[in-house]
Amino acid sequence: MVRFFCPNCWGEVDEGARSCPHCGVDIEAFWGERDYVEHLILSLRHPEPHTPIRAAWILGHLRDERAVAPLARLLQEAPDVYIARAAAEALGGIGTPAALAFLRTMRDNPATIVREAVEKALSQHNSMFAAGAGAARKADVS
Ligand SMILES: [Zn+2]
Repeated sequence: MVRFFCPNCWGEVDEGARSCPHCGVDIEAFWGERDYVEHLILSLRHPEPHTPIRAAWILGHLRDERAVAPLARLLQEAPDVYIARAAAEALGGIGTPAALAFLRTMRDNPATIVREAVEKALSQHNSMFAAGAGAARKADVS
């Protein structure tokens, strides 16, 4: 059975409900006013865990900076290590200085699976910088 949720508070609603019985938001207007990236950011809070994981994955590929703070919050607060891992991977994909700075603060995350994802994301960026520096040195020599 398909379940329907309010995109504002993620309370469960009836199919086709115009407003949310929990928070009172006009569901169609709330969703309609927002663009695709904002929909994905909202979906990070979806109660069914496969949805935030998929949303994080897409956000990591879209590399929209608006997703950095929500993904950081998700990484810290996710009740599920697989969601936290997806958030870490997405932050690595976005790769802005803010995203990487936050990832560095997550190196001591208690979950091994999350720490590994954080290290992998950071090392990808380190090796990119290293490759750039190496190329610059070679250019100096020639
Ligand atoms: Zn609601």
